[in-house]
Order: sequence, then C-alpha cells, then structure tokens
Amino acid sequence: MTMVSNWPNAIAHIDCDAFYASCEMARRPDLKGRPICVLSSQNAIVVAKSYDAKALGITTGMPVWEAKKLAPHAEYLAADFRYYGQISDKMFAILRRYSPEVEVYSIDEGFMEMNGIRTLWRKSFRQLADDIRLAIVRETGITASVGVSVTRTLAKMASESNKPNGTTVIPGKRIERFLADIAVAEIPGIGRNRTALLRKFGVHTALQFTCVEDGMMTRLLGRHGLALKRELCGISVTGVETEPPLPKSVARTASIGQLTTSREIVSAHLSYHTMRLVSELVAKHLLTRHIHVFLTLATFERNGADIRLEIETGSLRRIMAAVKTGFAKLFRAGESYRGCGVVATHISHAASATPDLFGFSKEDTRQLDLMLTVNRINKKYGDSTVSLAAIQMVKGRKNRPRFHYPLIMAG
Ligand SMILES: [Mg+2]
Repeated sequence: MTMVSNWPNAIAHIDCDAFYASCEMARRPDLKGRPICVLSSQNAIVVAKSYDAKALGITTGMPVWEAKKLAPHAEYLAADFRYYGQISDKMFAILRRYSPEVEVYSIDEGFMEMNGIRTLWRKSFRQLADDIRLAIVRETGITASVGVSVTRTLAKMASESNKPNGTTVIPGKRIERFLADIAVAEIPGIGRNRTALLRKFGVHTALQFTCVEDGMMTRLLGRHGLALKRELCGISVTGVETEPPLPKSVARTASIGQLTTSREIVSAHLSYHTMRLVSELVAKHLLTRHIHVFLTLATFERNGADIRLEIETGSLRRIMAAVKTGFAKLFRAGESYRGCGVVATHISHAASATPDLFGFSKEDTRQLDLMLTVNRINKKYGDSTVSLAAIQMVKGRKNRPRFHYPLIMAG
C-alpha cells in the first residue's frame, strides 16, 4: 500500500448508536438500562434493538414471539417514524452548524465534508468530532459515534470501529495500522458471499484487501471492488454528496437466505424491507405514490403486484398497508419462495413543515410535543415531577391510554 500524507482530504462519518431504541429512550428515560425492541408493526418482527436486548440474543429480523421467549420483560414498542424523523432532522441541523456540506446517508447516518473546517473552528478533527457528539447528545438525548478520515469509506469504518459514543480519527499515515486489525467482512459493501470468495484467495483483513493487485481485484469484485480498494488506500473516489438528485425509485430487496413456504417468514421479511424503505423516505424527506411488491420463487421467477397509493406519502402505516395488499395478492400456499422486495416509485420531495403529507394528524403532533415537554420538565426538575399517570388522562384514540406507552402507533 502506498503511503498517503495525513490530510489530503477530510471526511467525517456520523452514525447514531442503536438509533430507534435510543430515540425511544430519549423520550422515556424510565426505559434506560432496560432491553428495548422496536417492532415493524404490532406483533411482527424486531427491526431494531438496544444494546441490552442484543446482549440477550435478540437479533434484527426476529419474529416478536421468538424475542419474547428470550426476553419476556423487554419493552416492545411499535416503530414511530414521525418521531425518529424529527430526531434525525435535529441531528442533521447540528451537523450543518459545523460544515455546510452534509450528506444525509440514512435516517441516522451522515457524511460531512471537513476540508477547511479545522481552520474555520480553530480546532483539531478530534476536538470537532467530540464537540459534534456532545452537541447531539445534549440536544437530542442520543449518542453518536464519529469517524474522521481521508475517504468516506475509511470514515465510515472508523466510526464503526469504536461504538457506542466514540471518536476515531484516522489520518493518512495511520491507515495501514488501522486496516490491519479489521476483518474483510467489516468493509462496507462486502457481504457474506464476497467475504467467502476473498478468503479463498487468502484475503482475511482489510489491509490484505488493499494489497490485492488491480487486475485480480477487477476479476474478483469488478469495478466496485477496485473503487473500494482505492478508498481504503486513502484515495477518495466518492466525495460528500450534498444535493443528491431525486431518485427514480427507492427499493429494498433481499434473498430470504433459505427456501420457504411459510407465509409468516415471507411476510416478516417484507415488513422488514418496508421499514427500511420508509426510514430512507423519512430521512431524505421523500414521498412515494406507487408501491411495487414482488416475491421471488424457488425457480428465480418473480411475481409482482403494483399498488397505487391514494396520496403521496411517507407514512409507514399507509405504505405497510399497501405492501400487505400486494402480498395478499401474490402469496400462494404451498409455493416455495427465496426472496422478496418492495420498490417505491413516483418519488417526490416532501415540502418541509407539512406533517400531514406523512399521514399524521395534528393531534399526533400536539401529543408528541406534550410528551417531549414532559420529558424536558422531568429532566430539569427530577424524574417524576410530571408523572405518566397524569398524562394517561389525555383522551386517547379508540380509548387506548395513549401514553401508557408514549407511542404514536405507526402501523
Ligand atoms: Mg446507526
């Protein structure tokens, strides 16, 4: 690997720790230290978990009944994307105070162009990264990890290497030492199959990856592999994209990892994809008007269904309902499936400050604001200054005690 100078280029990657679970803890401090699972919808699958839940063996994609066997006392909450979107917006607003060039990569992850930023703030990259982490935790209540390096891939690997709540700075001259301790599977974009292939050729660490000769790399992983190698060597291939063009579609698809005839398994995978798709729409302030659902048969043949939505929306509830309609049309008992996916098309920009477009009522907004206020008061004057019991008297939809679990049910 050829040596690069310390800062030919500087990019930061900011990644919130266990984002959905941390958001829930931020508005319900009583949940701190308890295992938390966030569900795609009631009684579906675990789409996110806290570190405590992970320690109990709960994994993302696990059906809720299975998780409840492992952790009956964990807190099970339905995902609330309007709220996660608000926290996400706050987080990105903080980043934009430090650098004007910020890329929203996902709901809880962003890249920041850092060239010239040290001079502007008269601080080191480490101090800046620490400042950003502290500002995020102070203003949103959730922790983030920050990596700063010379390319975006290295910055992302740096933030990943020290989670939760860590700062990692990798200047050019320290890349080699950093990559020597990282397994090839940890390189972003290198999945299970590629890892297995690389291992066959004796490539086990990220440092060994940078030593694969260019012609061989192209044969193994194509042009993508070559670009990745450059990024790991400290040569920036992709910069920070501050204004990405409006995508034609947003898709989430994957193989199920087995052949299955189970209605529950296929529907759980679809509901997981739907969640991830909605999180991208919310993070990027996009709406969709059209949903395509497909199932891949054992024969690799694909069956698809199209659902036109009544309005442009980014609401999990509406999109999940459309996916369920599509799934009901497509699924055949006795048929063997290997994969599935959800594709949103007819994408448009959500005008800012029009929460109704996301399918939430004014009432939802008011109650959410109330909850946040209560948490602020409690934080300031002690934990039970305003008790949850008092708020439970707020009249609930369908007589459900709204704030018993202070959640706006999303689906
Ligand atoms: Mg994260």
